[in-house]
Amino acid sequence: MSEPGVVVIIPAAGAGSRFGSELPKQFHMLGDRTILQRVIERFLSDERVELIVVPVSERALLNFGEQPSGRRVQFVNGGETRQESVTKGFEAAGMKKGIVAIHDGVRPFFSIDTFHKVIDAAVHYGAAFPAAPINDTLHVLDNDQIVDTPDRTRLFAAQTPQCFRADVLRDILARGAGGDATDEAGLAAKYGYVVKAVPGDKLNFKITRPEDLAIAERIFLEFGK
Ligand code: C5P
Repeated sequence: MSEPGVVVIIPAAGAGSRFGSELPKQFHMLGDRTILQRVIERFLSDERVELIVVPVSERALLNFGEQPSGRRVQFVNGGETRQESVTKGFEAAGMKKGIVAIHDGVRPFFSIDTFHKVIDAAVHYGAAFPAAPINDTLHVLDNDQIVDTPDRTRLFAAQTPQCFRADVLRDILARGAGGDATDEAGLAAKYGYVVKAVPGDKLNFKITRPEDLAIAERIFLEFGK
């Protein structure tokens, strides 16, 4: 069986409110490139990727510097929520079939090897994502007090790239329209689809807070691109 082509959507329209800086985190530099440029270039290095659609804010397009261009990269306007940005990216791609991957614009250290495993699982199951085990004990707090301590062996952190058959993604985005899901794997599970977990990578963390950028810089120096 020949390998299906993949369209990648990279939602990058967030303002980065938890990052506490005027410049959204995806436009900060890692070495000589922005974080978003690094993400796009890593996907461009993969022959299975046919098209990359990047929803960004209009302000970002005007102010935050050069982005990679070419026939395989397309920038579109993002939305108010991550889910809306993904929906706009998916509509712009105009896909009828094949596999769609969705990847946070702030995870520069994803592995192509894991990406391929997630694609293959999505071909088989319809939806798949990288899941990383939780090392810390997690507590649910109410008013700064513990109200529950879930069994951590059953908890996993959802990473990206998450992959979906185009018909599955179209259905869940339509049924969840107007919502604010923080990932599409959860949305697919909510609407009754099987969502297969593939082992995630510790290094594939999401740059979210200022201290994450310092960690990302160290990882970049240690492991490079
Ligand atoms: O806010 P969070 O860390 O979950 O954002 C994950 C990704 O979704 C980021 O790459 C961010 O730029 C993107 N996003 C978006 N449109 C929004 C909000 C977030 O594309 N309105």
